[in-house]
Amino acid sequence: MNALKALVIGIALALSMAPGAAAGTRAADTINVVASLSDLGSIAQAVGGDKVSVTTIASGVQDPHFVDPKPSYVVKLRDADLFLVNGLELEIGWVPRLLDGARNPKVKAGAAGYVDCSKNVPVLEVPSVVSRADGDVHPFGNPHYTTDPLNRKIIAETIAEAFKQASPANADYFDARKKEFEKSIDEAMFGKDLVEDVGGNKLDRLTRSGELYTFLEGQKLASKLGGWMGKMKPLKGMKMVFFHKSFTYFIERFGLDVQNFVELKPGIQPGPAHLVSLVETIQRDKIKVVATHPFYDEKIGRLVAEKGGAKFVPVPLQVGGVEGATDSIKYFDVVVRLLTEAVGK
Ligand SMILES: [Zn+2]
Repeated sequence: MNALKALVIGIALALSMAPGAAAGTRAADTINVVASLSDLGSIAQAVGGDKVSVTTIASGVQDPHFVDPKPSYVVKLRDADLFLVNGLELEIGWVPRLLDGARNPKVKAGAAGYVDCSKNVPVLEVPSVVSRADGDVHPFGNPHYTTDPLNRKIIAETIAEAFKQASPANADYFDARKKEFEKSIDEAMFGKDLVEDVGGNKLDRLTRSGELYTFLEGQKLASKLGGWMGKMKPLKGMKMVFFHKSFTYFIERFGLDVQNFVELKPGIQPGPAHLVSLVETIQRDKIKVVATHPFYDEKIGRLVAEKGGAKFVPVPLQVGGVEGATDSIKYFDVVVRLLTEAVGK
């Protein structure tokens, strides 16, 4: 460690121990939670309410694959009771280094305080052979599972279990807030009326099994479908191009048809031949949207969109990724609005 880094850590530690600092004024039963990513931090806040103190490491505007492991993050982890991570190696480039620096046995990999939020999420694009060939950054399957609104309920359950274990006295409180969060996702996803009629759990199950539309037609409830599913319905089957395989779960959930990406492989920059062929595909298939995230090189995405005659649409990848996307509900509100406006639906 160089002298400057050591000094920065020293100062940060001194500040965190100063009277009146957040850690010093926490109530005795408050769980000190650190989340690697803003999506997880926002769900933790929703479930934990005022019984938790949540710190998020990477903000929503950062590429979660590549985060600079700053000394200030090490300091945050040193005091953590729980560490929430996305897992599936999304943070492989930076979380292990932070954990090494923090030397906090409570939250090291494998400890009870290390919470891998991918647990219980049905993972997509799991390869038959694990390989990082050519630098593929998704060797264990697609790690961007928070882009499916329904998966956020599974994450909330995992987080609630961890909170209950850390603070059994507040178990009922966490359960009640988790239920409230689940309800808010269901109502935003399907519309309040339909959730009242059918129930959130059943709608979730039907959506996951691909039977939702058949069921709604059969029950003459199709016109009651509201929320994000209702708004995205006209986009079903629509071809789009994405920059990275970051929206795989969203695409699957809302039935978009995305076969082409600006990147050659996840994490691998495209060459000219790939871009030329991509522009030809956009023209041939009359693709209307090239969607990207604000942290990717805007020039490449814009060029491909313009040459192909499509709209260039930067969508946030995480909560906090653009102004106004301050929690899970507002995040998907923004994404759905950007995509539906781009295609004029
Ligand atoms: Zn990725």
